[in-house]
Amino acid sequence: MTLVLNKEDREERKKQLVQALALSDFSKVYKEADEIQRNHKQDIISIRAILEFSNYCKRQCIYCGLNCKNTKVVRYRMEPAEIIKESLKAKDAGYETIVLQSGEDLYYTAEMLGHIVKEVKKCGIVITLSCGERSFEEYAYLRSCGADRYLLKHETADPALYEYLHPCGTLEERTNCLRNLKKLGYETGSGFMIGLPNQTHETIAEDLLLLEDIGCDMAGIGPFISHPDTPLKHAENGSTEMTKRAVALARILLPNANLPATTSLGVIDNDEKNNLFSCGANVIMRKITPDTYKKYYEIYPSQLGQTDILKERRELETLISNLGKIPK
Ligand code: SAH
Repeated sequence: MTLVLNKEDREERKKQLVQALALSDFSKVYKEADEIQRNHKQDIISIRAILEFSNYCKRQCIYCGLNCKNTKVVRYRMEPAEIIKESLKAKDAGYETIVLQSGEDLYYTAEMLGHIVKEVKKCGIVITLSCGERSFEEYAYLRSCGADRYLLKHETADPALYEYLHPCGTLEERTNCLRNLKKLGYETGSGFMIGLPNQTHETIAEDLLLLEDIGCDMAGIGPFISHPDTPLKHAENGSTEMTKRAVALARILLPNANLPATTSLGVIDNDEKNNLFSCGANVIMRKITPDTYKKYYEIYPSQLGQTDILKERRELETLISNLGKIPK
C-alpha cells in the first residue's frame, strides 16, 4: 500500500492526510517517505551552520523564550564585523550553507544586513536569512545583496490559533511575507510546530497543505517545547511521533524540499531525531553561535555544549556516516 494523494482535489488530499496522521500503524508511510527521499535526495544529509546573532525581539509570541515580555533574558547583539568573522569560520570548517538567525530586531537595518550578506557571500557560502518579517522592498534589497534563502515558519495554519499565539501579527501577514519571498526568487522555507494547544490533525493537515500552497523549498517541522518564562509554561511538549509523521508526510507532498530534523526534536529525543533521516528528513543544523551568546538564545530550554565549529562539524559527519548516509 502506498499513500496516493489526490493531486487534483485539495479537500480530498486534506482528508487523506488527516486519516494518515491517525493511523495506528504508520510504518508503511514512513517507508514510502524514505523511498521518496532516496529517489530525490539520494543518501545525502546536508549539514547547515546556524549563527544566532541577536536575541532581541520586538514580538510577543507566547511560546517563545525570546519574546519581548520576557524580562529574564539577558539580551545580546553581535556587531556586523563579528557576524562576518564567525560566518567565515563556518566556511573554513566545511559548511556550504549558513543560516543567519535572530529575533525580530530592527536594530539591524536592511543596509546593515545587506552589508553582512555581501561580505559573507565573498567566500562563496550559501546564505539563509531568518530574521522575521520585513517589507517586500527590504527582502528585495537583501536578495539583491546575495541572500539565497529565507526561513520564516508559518508556525500554524489555523488563523485563530495563530492570533492567539502571536499577539503582534496575523497568519495573513506571515503568508504574505512567504509569498513575497517566493516571488523574489528566494529558496523559501516555512514550517510549523507540533503539539500547540488545541492543535488537531486537521490543523496539521492544513499546515502541510500550506507548505504546498506556498511552494516551499524547505520546511522545518518540530515539536513545541514549553518554556518556563512564557505564558505557555504549563502547556505540554509536542509529541515526537506526531512530529515524525508530519515530516514523513511533508516528504511525500514535497519530494524535493529540504526538510531538517529539527533541533527541538533532538531536545526531546535525540534517537528519534536520528531516526528521522530514514523517514523523510535530509538536513541537520548545528549552532555555531559563540559560547558567550549561545546560552542566551533560549527559544526553548535545551542542554548546550561548548561551541567548537570544526570539531562539531566532524562529529556530525561521523554520526551521519554511521547512519549509512553521506554528509555534505
Ligand atoms: N525571528 C525569526 C526566528 C524565529 S526562532 C522568525 O520570526 O522567523 C525560530 C523558530 O523557533 C520559530 O520559527 C519557531 O518555530 C521555533 N520556536 C520558537 N519557540 C519555540 C518553542 N517554545 N518550541 C519549539 N519551537 C519553537
